[in-house]
Amino acid sequence: MIKRRKTRPVRIGDISIGENNPIAVQSMTNTDTFDIESTVSQILGLEKAGCDIVRSSIPDLQSALAVKEIRKRINIPLVGDIHFDHELALAAVEYGIDKIRINPGNIGGKARTKEVISTCKKANIPIRIGVNSGSLDRNILAKHNGVTPEAMAESMSEYIDYFLEEDFHNIVLSLKSSDVVKMTEAYRIISSRYDYPLHLGVTEAGSVFTGAVKSAVGLGILLAEGIGDTIRVSLTGDVKKEISAGRTILRSLGYSISGVNLISCPTCARTRVGLENLVEKLEEEFSGMNIGRSINVAVMGCAVNGPGEAREADIGIAGGDGEYLLFKKGVTVRKVAESDVLKVLVDEIGYFGKDE
Ligand code: SF4
Repeated sequence: MIKRRKTRPVRIGDISIGENNPIAVQSMTNTDTFDIESTVSQILGLEKAGCDIVRSSIPDLQSALAVKEIRKRINIPLVGDIHFDHELALAAVEYGIDKIRINPGNIGGKARTKEVISTCKKANIPIRIGVNSGSLDRNILAKHNGVTPEAMAESMSEYIDYFLEEDFHNIVLSLKSSDVVKMTEAYRIISSRYDYPLHLGVTEAGSVFTGAVKSAVGLGILLAEGIGDTIRVSLTGDVKKEISAGRTILRSLGYSISGVNLISCPTCARTRVGLENLVEKLEEEFSGMNIGRSINVAVMGCAVNGPGEAREADIGIAGGDGEYLLFKKGVTVRKVAESDVLKVLVDEIGYFGKDE
């Protein structure tokens, strides 16, 4: 069991992060925020996939205005991502945003950052201070000879001081980089200096495959060290995949995450069934779905290692020649023809746990 580093609790809408709260999985919409219908529909899809907190860019006043209506129609906290114009942060707070994400380095200086801080303080809204390796201050870059983990941490410390001068502690910190090694080191440094909750992410991680792998490495290293209170896997692709990737990372580290945990063998010369196709279809069906309970499903190719693994799972199948043997909670149930196996598994997963 991983021993998590103790952080202060921060409340975002109805969810708390930090302290002993579960690690929240986040994503970010990629619709135009002012397009209320599309944004709400994407957020409802993310909720179904198990997203705990969602962020939307607020690049203009129209988007800030849309916050009011979006908030009414969704069930998870909405975070406003603001760059360059602090007035947009003030407007988003006025229209009911649950949290603001700013980078004080591009919001127009210390005085404007402080205006955002005092508005959020009055509204009791938390702020994520988001330092990004791509936008560090020139003086810090010169001092550290470029982008280094220490430079990122120093930049963060400078910004945290603005908040402490205002006695504002309702903050979450992130130090993102597309360089996994720099990012992990920067988070380690900052986590040794402060006890504010940390939002972990590898930024501009890449395509669904590359981004998921890089994020699993970066986030996995930190989470295994007990660092991190909320995560976002950034992917160029379907936003729901960010949630399934994030949830899979947490599940692999032993956190209890509802949904289908798919265990499947790599296949080999012994396989006499179309396992790859079946696993793909199951993943399509269940990876973006929070079914409200946790189920281990083992899909195995043959009678060598198959039955053992299938018996260990809640639901398991072991392949034979054109057919499978079905197991439930360690008990052999029956043979299933290959042509029926997808439907049988989908039905079994659907029923599982409901009659208990
Ligand atoms: S479970 Fe059977 S089919 Fe799958 S990799 Fe192992 S030996 Fe091969």
